[in-house]
Amino acid sequence: MSPDHPASSNPPGGLAALEARLAEDLSLLELPAREWVLGKQHDGGEVLDVAVIGGGMAGLAAAAALKLLGVRARIFDRSPQGLEGPWATTARMETLRSPKQLTGPALGLPALTFRAWFEAQFGVPAWQALDKIDRLQWMQYLIWYRRVLALEVCNDHTIEALTPRADGLVALSVRTPERRFDVYARRVVLATGRDG
Ligand SMILES: Cc1cc2nc3c(=O)[nH]c(=O)nc-3n(C[C@H](O)[C@H](O)[C@H](O)COP(=O)(O)OP(=O)(O)OC[C@H]3O[C@@H](n4cnc5c(N)ncnc54)[C@H](O)[C@@H]3O)c2cc1C
Repeated sequence: MSPDHPASSNPPGGLAALEARLAEDLSLLELPAREWVLGKQHDGGEVLDVAVIGGGMAGLAAAAALKLLGVRARIFDRSPQGLEGPWATTARMETLRSPKQLTGPALGLPALTFRAWFEAQFGVPAWQALDKIDRLQWMQYLIWYRRVLALEVCNDHTIEALTPRADGLVALSVRTPERRFDVYARRVVLATGRDG
């Protein structure tokens, strides 16, 4: 089974059916909760409720958990889209180390688990036969996770400095390939992984 061609043995339904199931589960649970944090401005500009630095597995899970609670979060990651974390770049081992049964960033939603994602594409027997999760498949799963939860991620955005301010806001110094600018946030989550 090639991680480059994860849909090659699609049973009927596949990911589309899983995404419909997830949408229904979220709807039944009234999730995400309605956004309830009152907006704030600084010098007439936007203030983020939460800035999450790092769009790897931890940053995605943090932003997703906040979103389900009705709190807006914007993720900044210096990597290009789809190359967050070590999975498709610096990793040398071909598989995850953890047993496949750990449910990872699924936040208690069965349709959001790696297992559901895997079975939707390859079927139950393939899951039963699987030993350890392929690291590139884990990356594909995280890409899917971000998409189905519609998480707000700014790729190619490096945070160069954080400055706590007297007014309680935090100024984030952002660098993109084109420019440098500041963003203000009420709260900051550091999810910068081992790099950070
Ligand atoms: C082959 C392999 C197998 C592994 N197996 C497991 C396993 O089975 N279970 C497990 O729990 N862990 C495993 N790990 C460890 C895994 O790397 C970490 O658990 C996981 O990556 C942690 O996620 P994270 O979001 O904290 O950090 P990362 O995935 O490292 O993500 C951090 C992100 O922050 C971004 N970032 C950093 N600094 C900045 C900045 N200044 N501005 C903007 N963005 C920034 C980076 O670009 C990166 O995308 C494995 C690792 C490898 C390489």
